[in-house]
Amino acid sequence: MSLIQENVPLREYSSFKIGGNAKYFLEVSSKEELVEGLKEWRELSSSFPESDRRIFIIGGGTNLLVSDNGFSGLAIHVNIKFIKIAGEVAKTGAGNLIPQLLDTCIKNSLSGLEWAGGLPGTVGGAVRGNAGAFGGETKDNVLEVESLDINTLGQKTRKNAQCKFAYRDSVYKSGEGKDEIIISASFGLKYGDMEEIRSATQEKINYREAKHPLHLPNAGSIFKNVNVEDAPGSVISEFESSIKNDPFPVIPTAKLLIRAGLQGKKVGGAQVSQQHPNFIVNIGNARSSDVKDLIELEKEAVKQRLGVDLEVEVMFVE
Ligand SMILES: Cc1cc2nc3c(=O)[nH]c(=O)nc-3n(C[C@H](O)[C@H](O)[C@H](O)COP(=O)(O)OP(=O)(O)OC[C@H]3O[C@@H](n4cnc5c(N)ncnc54)[C@H](O)[C@@H]3O)c2cc1C
Repeated sequence: MSLIQENVPLREYSSFKIGGNAKYFLEVSSKEELVEGLKEWRELSSSFPESDRRIFIIGGGTNLLVSDNGFSGLAIHVNIKFIKIAGEVAKTGAGNLIPQLLDTCIKNSLSGLEWAGGLPGTVGGAVRGNAGAFGGETKDNVLEVESLDINTLGQKTRKNAQCKFAYRDSVYKSGEGKDEIIISASFGLKYGDMEEIRSATQEKINYREAKHPLHLPNAGSIFKNVNVEDAPGSVISEFESSIKNDPFPVIPTAKLLIRAGLQGKKVGGAQVSQQHPNFIVNIGNARSSDVKDLIELEKEAVKQRLGVDLEVEVMFVE
């Protein structure tokens, strides 16, 4: 039986609830299934034009904007889930959701990932983009990462230093690991007090519930925060009191968007969130073109009014 399905709606796999179908779709729950599926894809796609042979990996779909026209290649949903605890090390499948990992950490009195309380998405997505919040980053706890090379089907293991983590970046996002699928990651943790770990994690969840527009479909922050080193002097002095260390001195992009008068701005079914202006929310049947137009409008307004170039954080699937 074929592992690869056809015409699967990607909006179901995206927290934005936007976008068309994947022409081909593979859901994998183990490394073996991934290898089998990739072999099948090789045969199936051998006569396709290059653009239709592309592969896109989906984890939790919490950082994606899928095109209204869908994706003409193969979308692979990584659903490899397991968590093994050995002393102060947690090894987890790339498809485990971060909240599942945090629950296991609490149950085992393991401290280190409390900063990620309420961070949506999978371990694979967090490693690839070195997700971070409240001064913490995924890289702070990663010991090693296992991945599978799409071209050779060979498995690789990289220690933390070889993952080349940087701000929202890693070797899997922009280095030689770009053609690899993360299959698992090991995290180094420390024994702590269960109640303290639980309450520190919950504190972050509560903060997010209060500050983020979680009642509407969204994909988290649209833009990266602005590195103080890249900001014009006038902007640094105006926003001096808002500068935070996360993980280095940044000006929160939300503040710049408010200043540029963009809070609540709408294009079609997409709106700059009133609650957190660095989020765009899908207020009803938004199209990906609505979101993209709104992003362009925001970039232009901030450039024109404040002289700052905003960098998009969300990934486009098209
Ligand atoms: C409400 C909300 C709040 C958020 N808050 C934060 C925050 O505080 N900090 C932060 O950093 N981010 C935040 N995000 C963004 C997002 O949650 C993170 O970037 C998250 O790590 C993405 O994981 P994912 O599994 O959903 O990845 P996806 O959105 O599925 O994919 C993101 C990218 O990772 C790739 N990818 C996914 N899995 C794998 C894999 N196994 N192997 C190789 N590549 C893979 C995809 O191809 C894609 O390029 C937030 C998002 C939302 C919706």
